[in-house]
Amino acid sequence: MAKKKEQDPARLEADDRKFIWHPFTQMQDYEADAPLIIERAKGAYLYDIRGKRYLDGVSSLWVTVHGHRKPALDSAIRKQLASVAHSTLLGISNVPSVRLARMLIERAPEGLAKVFYSDNGSTAVEIGLKMAFQFWQQHRSGSHKRRTRFICFENAYHGDTLGSVGVGGIDLFHKMYRPLLMDSIRATSPYCYRCPLELDKSTCDMACLESIERTLKEHADEVAALLIEPLVFAAAGIIVQPPGFLSRIRELCSRYGVLMIADEVAVGIGRTGTFFACERENVSPDILATAKGLSGGYLPVAATLASEQIYQGFLGDYVEMRTLFHGHTYTGNPLGCAASVANLEIFERERTLQKVRNKIRLLETLLRPLSELPHVGDIRQCGLMVGIELVKDRKTREPYGHGEKIGIKAIMEARRRGMIIRPLGNVIVLMPHLTFTPAQLERMVSITAASIETVTGA
Ligand code: PMP
Repeated sequence: MAKKKEQDPARLEADDRKFIWHPFTQMQDYEADAPLIIERAKGAYLYDIRGKRYLDGVSSLWVTVHGHRKPALDSAIRKQLASVAHSTLLGISNVPSVRLARMLIERAPEGLAKVFYSDNGSTAVEIGLKMAFQFWQQHRSGSHKRRTRFICFENAYHGDTLGSVGVGGIDLFHKMYRPLLMDSIRATSPYCYRCPLELDKSTCDMACLESIERTLKEHADEVAALLIEPLVFAAAGIIVQPPGFLSRIRELCSRYGVLMIADEVAVGIGRTGTFFACERENVSPDILATAKGLSGGYLPVAATLASEQIYQGFLGDYVEMRTLFHGHTYTGNPLGCAASVANLEIFERERTLQKVRNKIRLLETLLRPLSELPHVGDIRQCGLMVGIELVKDRKTREPYGHGEKIGIKAIMEARRRGMIIRPLGNVIVLMPHLTFTPAQLERMVSITAASIETVTGA
């Protein structure tokens, strides 16, 4: 049957070029190519308007958890639609948001007690910043008013709104906006492949922690909180922290009386093999931000979890104005919360985390041969998050120049071969969802290897 005029592929492609400004996309390049427009999806595959099938190797930007068109998620949303699509959380509540809050606290690291909703990762982080700041400003002792700054890491990424950019550490994304941003303090980050201290990770004994401790010591009385992406600096190129790093950061925050905010937007909801990444090192942050996979990759839902101590700091007589003055229109949206409840239920019912362990090991085995490729400098994996750093010269670790667009070339080659992935600079990112089959994992890695070989000429 012929498609309706408004669904005609050529017309959609023309209208896409004409009307959409795509995020994180150089539109001059984009306009030069035929756009890829997705029409439908099933399981691990996306289908474009011309009927071509692609393996979704990026979990539709790190969000899909149990695959596309998961029947239990589809029906949870339909069921919720029959009750109410939206009702505000400002001063009143709704059923799915209450159910989800309980489930989140039951699964969160010990000590986290309250759930504050929003609708994306950047806002979840910013809410954490505001909570930490205001907590100290209105501290009953009155002696913490100087705590107005934040410590973040080099290579950190916490989102694109100005508050979250203000605690970012990736110059490519963040430097341009510096005049608009708060004055955060940057700590050394353990990018072991390119160690800022020029040490070797097999012998360094995490020497970077000394520099981080010095930063904390020097600034403790003017700092509200330290922010960290637990286990992996994701957007900087899946930079995996050495084992034990996260728990040492927790110890340092406690020692210097600084709140710890864990940004689990990318690493949470099973992506690293545990429900929250903090679990791996038995760490309880004071505040935790989650989003992306929370709704199983269906709807924009985010949450900022806070400890009881922080929450208590906001209680008081109405006239004291200790309220957290923050709330988005779609905060606690019932459709999104219903999808999230169903998502978390699937984890239990299908024993997703138990099953994912073998997939993580298989992925590790499949990736091993790629380290032999002459332009693969470093392969980093944490759970089902993978970064493959391409280099011009393996011996000297000389990077490809920005203008060489090696990452973009590799993912475009992968696209021709039937897989959608996104690079981060010279790093090829693989992010299968948690229920990829062994055959799909194998296909993902083999397309990646062939694409790298083609574009690096090796
Ligand atoms: N924090 C981290 C660690 C992220 O990786 C991201 C997004 N990639 C964000 C925050 C921002 O999330 P969003 O794009 O939903 O605003």
